[in-house]
Amino acid sequence: MVPEHPQRTCVSCRAKKGRAELLRLVVENGRLVYDRGKVLSGRGYHVCREKQCIDVLMRGKRLKKIFKVDVEVGSLEHLKELLISEEIT
Ligand SMILES: [Zn+2]
Repeated sequence: MVPEHPQRTCVSCRAKKGRAELLRLVVENGRLVYDRGKVLSGRGYHVCREKQCIDVLMRGKRLKKIFKVDVEVGSLEHLKELLISEEIT
């Protein structure tokens, strides 16, 4: 039986939530990008729309383990600001 509302797992806190409650990140050409419209192909990762979870993710220690790519610190800062502004609006 397929659930009507499939749940996704936050990579930071491991909570299972619906897609609308999570931000989607995709690894594209070795870079971590925010999939704002949830339209990008590729392996997707989800994180809560909460500063706490975004902070944990962007702290970096777990990034390489989770995404299996090297992510530039500069682009991470930008991504973090983008995600946090998305969370607020
Ligand atoms: Zn979370």
